[in-house]
Amino acid sequence: MIKAVVGANWGDEGKGKITDMLAQEADIIVRFQGGANAGHTIVNDYGKFALHTLPSGVFYDHTTSVIGNGVALNIPVFFKEYNEVVDRGVPAPKILISDRAQIVMPYHILFDQYEEERLAGKSFGSTKSGIAPFYSDKYAKIGFQVSELFDEETLREKVVRVCETKNVVLEHLYHKPLLNPDELMAELMEYKKMVEPYVCDVSLYLWNAIKDGKEILLEGQLGSLKDPDHGIYPMVTSSSTLAAYGAIGAGVPPYEIKKIITVCKAYSSAVGAGAFVSEIFGEEADELRRRGGDGGEYGATTGRPRRMGWFDCVASKYGCRIQGTTDVAFTVLDVLGYLDEIPVCVGYEINGEITTDFPTTTLLEKAKPVLKTLPGWKSDIRGIKNYEELPENCRKYIEFVEEQIGFPITMISNGPGRNDIIYRS
Ligand code: GDP
Repeated sequence: MIKAVVGANWGDEGKGKITDMLAQEADIIVRFQGGANAGHTIVNDYGKFALHTLPSGVFYDHTTSVIGNGVALNIPVFFKEYNEVVDRGVPAPKILISDRAQIVMPYHILFDQYEEERLAGKSFGSTKSGIAPFYSDKYAKIGFQVSELFDEETLREKVVRVCETKNVVLEHLYHKPLLNPDELMAELMEYKKMVEPYVCDVSLYLWNAIKDGKEILLEGQLGSLKDPDHGIYPMVTSSSTLAAYGAIGAGVPPYEIKKIITVCKAYSSAVGAGAFVSEIFGEEADELRRRGGDGGEYGATTGRPRRMGWFDCVASKYGCRIQGTTDVAFTVLDVLGYLDEIPVCVGYEINGEITTDFPTTTLLEKAKPVLKTLPGWKSDIRGIKNYEELPENCRKYIEFVEEQIGFPITMISNGPGRNDIIYRS
């Protein structure tokens, strides 16, 4: 059976923790999109880890971690992370890398930096990991698949050809140093050595695994609202963040994805620019940011302070719907235990009308939050294992959110650790 673990919001919902937890009973964990631009923070018996490209299943002996074809694979970053994990005592993870995954080239990272410089104040808030230039090239059909590393002659011809076009832009648009095809080729040969032992026909491997009854997890990065089609375009990421894309980015039949576990955070946070209707500011935001997540809401990749907001029922209802949610995992609820009252965004006012349907970006920019205030529970809920033992106001908060978003909250995460989870049927 295949389960997808994906985000309902702007990312940073705690997907890493939920994946790590579900991986206890899984055989294979697959990353199917995105790259090293966002991170998961995972706390387990080995310590605290910020993973950017390794799947969150790497901490178990019994799992195989797979990089699917949909991923933007930064080979040096991947192996640096792999070595760090092993250096900290984790048994060497079993990994497989799709022969169809494409490679983040050194110049993708440069182009990302140069473009952000050029756009200055109008930038998209890129993490400068090369993700947008990477996916642009993939769809412009000048990307490099892992498989291409193994045909040196054809590769060299393509490298020369691609450098020619890149160099025109480097010279005339960015006024930066030009690419040298020989240096690039040498670097790619290094990449080849690194990936060679792990390259695999991943879709075939997964096809056989499905037939053998294996338990497969698809691990998403970021969340619904960062999807290039269904998110807050253009303040989105460059690959689809939706469970449906898992079928493509891993190469599995769509009908095999039986469960879509959408991770939804009990308050809001976002990174980068873009409309954020329930955003809060000042001391109120600072306090939530300080207390949020596990050690504060700061980017796992960049260390940037995240933008903070109250729970947004409109965005989350949409975020869950567009994922095709079967189960909601409601996370970081423990963080809200300090509040006397908890505001929740229950509608958007746009041009004088109130809606609970998430609009397109042009209208979203005009939306003002309609807030409802719920009573807080003023206690620490960490360590609680049974739903009935949660304070009444805490249960009311969960049940209110569930009714507003219209999807069943079957898991409640009340701490960063693997076992901080309350199941609810
Ligand atoms: P991801 O990208 O969706 O995996 O999310 P991140 O890892 O960026 O952010 C989630 C943060 O919240 C991490 O620091 C987690 O350790 C932490 N976290 C996850 N679930 C919980 C929870 O239920 N309670 C608390 N306090 N922290 C949590």
